Amino acid sequence: MPIKNRFAELQSEITEWRRDIHQNPEILFETHRTSALVAEKLKEFGCDEVVTGIGRTGVVGVIKGKADTGGKVIGLRADMDALPIHETTGLDYASNTDGAMHACGHDGHTAMLLGAAKYLSETRNFDGTVVVIFQPAEEGGGGGREMCEDGMMDRWGIQEVYGMHNWPGRPVGSFAIRPGAFFAATDQFDIVFEGKGGHAAKPHETVDTTVMAAQAVLALQTIAARNADPVDQVVVSVTSFETSSTAFNVIPQTVKLRGTVRTMSRDMRDMAEKRVTEICTGVAATFGGAVEVTYYRGYPVMVNSDDQTDFAARVARSVSGDCDQAPLIMGGEDFAFMLEERPGAYILVGNGDTAAVHHPEYNFNDEAIPAGCSWWAEIVEQRMPAA
Ligand SMILES: [Zn+2]
Ligand SMILES: [Zn+2]
Repeated sequence: MPIKNRFAELQSEITEWRRDIHQNPEILFETHRTSALVAEKLKEFGCDEVVTGIGRTGVVGVIKGKADTGGKVIGLRADMDALPIHETTGLDYASNTDGAMHACGHDGHTAMLLGAAKYLSETRNFDGTVVVIFQPAEEGGGGGREMCEDGMMDRWGIQEVYGMHNWPGRPVGSFAIRPGAFFAATDQFDIVFEGKGGHAAKPHETVDTTVMAAQAVLALQTIAARNADPVDQVVVSVTSFETSSTAFNVIPQTVKLRGTVRTMSRDMRDMAEKRVTEICTGVAATFGGAVEVTYYRGYPVMVNSDDQTDFAARVARSVSGDCDQAPLIMGGEDFAFMLEERPGAYILVGNGDTAAVHHPEYNFNDEAIPAGCSWWAEIVEQRMPAA
């Protein structure tokens, strides 16, 4: 069963929605226009229930199949938010908002799931219930987490959840997936070293925080090099080093470090957090200074369930003829919170040879729409086949 004919028919309409969303990007939880558009479309399609305000600006639609003999409920999730990037594509439907841009293709994700919702509302050729989930604030705001915290999974009795992301560099409409850990846990830290500032010509009368913090930057690299099992993945990146003085002749009183930690398992995540604190405390003590470490836990590791991943790959093969093994990705994904609550799977769909996501020249490839929509529809029709 390849691409569904209905999506070839709907492609131009879905493309119009996509470009309209592209032109009107909204950041984090501020997806007011996009959420209203989604809710309006879902009502127009004849969804059995449309609820707004889940996870602040999230939208949920419910579509009942022509039968419901087993009480099965599947959740399908798309993200709606844009990024704080100034678009440079020069497209005739480029962002009309300065400093906001759909540079991660969430415009395409939203349009494709709307397309699938339209088809599923028309045909209802399945035995069970579909819950379409449109979340805000994937790009660092935890909109998926807030939708879960609002009780979405229990309220609609969702039993398994599926997600999809476009992927530049993959042939358009081709799929890739992997079971188990897939996207990294993304944590951040602020570290403030405190010494004793003074004259740069009299270092013996100071406690030099610059030297202290420089030692810490290097020592933090030993978390990956010496603490982690070499077959495990951990990235520790110090991304900011800020001294409290910019003068040539002053040893600064404080140095602030900032950075990110990416890990692929709960154990590695706990280990890295513990070591960041231990190393900084130890370095400060060694040099006679003080330190304050603030560690922020972001998105957890996104883990695909084995059974749902097998099934999702089978569906992808039925749509596109093939499904590749995806690599581990050290980026984060808010869908991780939904996969912590329910079994499910997250798949990549090829965006062709375009700029990378988060690049000011990136654009979602509308040629991926038929494959993406067909995968959504087939997930439902194959997982909950009508008699
Ligand atoms: Zn992104
Ligand atoms: Zn994204």
